[in-house]
Amino acid sequence: MAVAHKVSQLRLPPLPSIKDIIRLYKLRALKELSQNFLLEPRLIDKIVRAAGNIENHVICEVGPGPGGITRSIIRQAPRKVILVEKDQRFVPSLELLADACKDRVDIDIITGDILKTDLAHYIPKDVNSDWFDSPPQVNLIGNLPFSVSTILIIRWLEMISKREGPWSLGRTRMTLTFQKEVAERMTARMSARQRCRMSVMCQTWCNVNYKFDIPGAAFLPKPDVDVGVVTLTPLKHPLIKLPFKLVEKVVRQIFSMRQKYSIRGAQTLFPENVREEMALKMYKMAEIDPVTRPFQIANMEFARICEAYNEIIKMYPEFENYDYRAPKKQKEENVEDAV
Ligand code: SAM
Repeated sequence: MAVAHKVSQLRLPPLPSIKDIIRLYKLRALKELSQNFLLEPRLIDKIVRAAGNIENHVICEVGPGPGGITRSIIRQAPRKVILVEKDQRFVPSLELLADACKDRVDIDIITGDILKTDLAHYIPKDVNSDWFDSPPQVNLIGNLPFSVSTILIIRWLEMISKREGPWSLGRTRMTLTFQKEVAERMTARMSARQRCRMSVMCQTWCNVNYKFDIPGAAFLPKPDVDVGVVTLTPLKHPLIKLPFKLVEKVVRQIFSMRQKYSIRGAQTLFPENVREEMALKMYKMAEIDPVTRPFQIANMEFARICEAYNEIIKMYPEFENYDYRAPKKQKEENVEDAV
């Protein structure tokens, strides 16, 4: 019989409500920073619960804003909380919270851009666990700003592939929000309508789980779309054991002609004069039917295509740096020069 885990709850000292914090500090939401605040305690707690048991863990929260999710995290008795917030206006209210909890939880407030923050620098090194063991006691949590969520996850996947940053400490887990449409793409399996480059990239390096939806109406201001909560746990063994940039290039080109036979996109990996011959050779080596559509290719089939591509560029190193988009980019630059 499963034994229910008893989670200790920290009781926070009396604090103004998040609604009052927003009013007191005049925290009008800024569209350019994708600020949509979640005020519903039940949903906030549900996001934090999706991260699992975080007692004694080190938690990095992206974009705490007025601190609704932060409060819920602190109630789970973590060891340390690292907050990365770009908007300086939130610092006083976050400092108020840090001060109120200073005897029980260590809270670091970093004012900066998550895309430029070296999170590993703030995480105590003793949480380190072997890559092949259970994940370390570190979690990345965030109701992410829409404007950076896709760039951030791609950047983090690359870091996971190299075991850098928070992943130099082991298979650090993430619990993050995305626009519903993005969350669906991240988790889409073969043949699903939403299957795209993002699906293959996420699933190559992580176990990705779509946990639940949050309706747009739960946010202030209300965004135009609903939100999906996703957890990601790095895989012990990635499905494709090749460099991130190579996989990204192959998958991007294959999905570049979504509605066509996948070999059409695959051809664009090679210069025009050898395109048809090389793509056919690659598909033959990978044992893939050339008339398959991109969304009908399973993750393990993508692995075989990437391996075949890697073999071909070993045989013909001159193809390695071929960039289908380069002539177009060059043309655009020439037009700009001529103006
Ligand atoms: N966590 C709060 C909540 O759930 O109510 C706010 C979430 S809001 C969707 C996104 C937060 O990320 C905002 O506080 C915003 O200022 C912050 N933010 C936006 N861009 C950021 C960036 N590049 N780095 C760090 N924080 C950022």
